Amino acid sequence: MSLSAAEIWTRLLDRARLEIPEQTFRTWLKETKALEVKGHTLTVGTPDRFSADWNESKHAALLSGLAPVALGHPMTVMFKVHEEQKQRPQMDLFVAPPPTPAAPAEGKGKGTGSTTGNSGTGTGGVGSSSQLSARYTFDNFVIGKSNDLAAATAQAVAAAPGKAYNPFFIYGDTGLGKTHLMQAVAHEIIRATPRTRLMYIGTEQFTNELVGSIQGRTQAEFRRRFRELDLLLVDDVHFLRGKESTQEEFFNTFNALYESGRQIILTSDRPPKEIPGLEARLVSRFEWGMVADVELPDFEHRIAILQNKARLDHLERTIPLDVIRFIAEHVRSSVRELEGSVIRLLAFASLRRKEVSVDLAREALRDKLRGDGEPDSEALSVSTIQQAVAKAWGVSSEALRSKGRTKALTVPRQVAMHLIRELLGVQLVEIGNAFGGRDHSTVIHSLEKTETAMQADPEFAARVGKLRVALEGLRS
Ligand code: ADP
Ligand code: MG
Repeated sequence: MSLSAAEIWTRLLDRARLEIPEQTFRTWLKETKALEVKGHTLTVGTPDRFSADWNESKHAALLSGLAPVALGHPMTVMFKVHEEQKQRPQMDLFVAPPPTPAAPAEGKGKGTGSTTGNSGTGTGGVGSSSQLSARYTFDNFVIGKSNDLAAATAQAVAAAPGKAYNPFFIYGDTGLGKTHLMQAVAHEIIRATPRTRLMYIGTEQFTNELVGSIQGRTQAEFRRRFRELDLLLVDDVHFLRGKESTQEEFFNTFNALYESGRQIILTSDRPPKEIPGLEARLVSRFEWGMVADVELPDFEHRIAILQNKARLDHLERTIPLDVIRFIAEHVRSSVRELEGSVIRLLAFASLRRKEVSVDLAREALRDKLRGDGEPDSEALSVSTIQQAVAKAWGVSSEALRSKGRTKALTVPRQVAMHLIRELLGVQLVEIGNAFGGRDHSTVIHSLEKTETAMQADPEFAARVGKLRVALEGLRS
């Protein structure tokens, strides 16, 4: 008699429950559903990519290992996203951009920045868009004041490669869209002329491949590969600094391509002149064409970028406009950070199974908001302590700071002073200032009062102690 997929899954889960902590079980396995069994493979559906990946990496092996015990025969368990189980918000709708291949290469032979995982010598991807991130197109690029020159130049280059601006040099801080823009040009050129031979390569990787070719005595092949290109994209050329032999080779490659009218696009974190240790002849080559920068987007631009992302990922209804505004207001450092905030927020919502809201965003992005110079209502501070005490005693924190002397106010006021002193070690004078300018003898008196009361009254002591523990949890 053969069991159905659901029966197999129930048996495996019943067995797994003995091995896996209940909390883990509830978080990751409860919402799953057996989809089908084929031979010795059971496919299990999950509500989102996040849990599919998690289960696959943390639980699949364990579950498969339990099969002989639970079923009497082997069974391999696989997880995949099950469309019908999808619940909002969905992690996998927001696809994080792939890591920039320009980042320091993880060793040689990683391909030429191919996003399809082309491995090998790097020739595999030449001439195809497989080296590019599919998302980095003009359509997905939001133009604003901070990048309009760079974007307009990019479009001109795409329309007339090798003619309008060569080389095209884009510079700016990290996470502001340089790689995106450079690849958008490539996508557009390939769309118009599919046979274009292109290479997208990070400077680190260029260096690694060059070194590899010297060691393997394949330098001629290395040169040929580069010089046959119609379009060369080199990301993050500031990494060229100080690497003399790489600069030499780069200079030669550059000249060969330039002279035969091939388009070259370069990015860097600063303008050519400011790259320390870059040979003067390269600096001047880089300045031949157009040098354009990308800057930080302003508030309206940040909103437009977030809205565009939400639209692309079909998240318009998952992320309400007030949340978009909230993120745009607080996350200012780069576009990558904006995207990172959205990913984090969605992961947070998905794990907690909550709707995306401003409150949830505040919680999810606490760390990011903290560095922003904005008062953070969540971090441990004089004012969070005042608020927490006020709340616990059912008064307002303004009242705590006021001159009011009713017992309903003096007790929590003294408690707040005590906790501020204990948890933050704030000076007595400062504590006085935080409570409407009370003098330091009043503060001493308050601290003594609270201590005496705590010794005399265990219930009161427990109440203060509980609050203290909660507040301590806010320490970062
Ligand atoms: P850089 O190369 O400058 O470090 P990237 O090009 O990798 O930055 O951009 C970081 C992320 O921000 C990418 O996911 C990119 O798609 C996105 N991005 C940057 N600028 C824009 C923009 N103007 N419109 C839409 N997305 C953008
Ligand atoms: Mg980049």
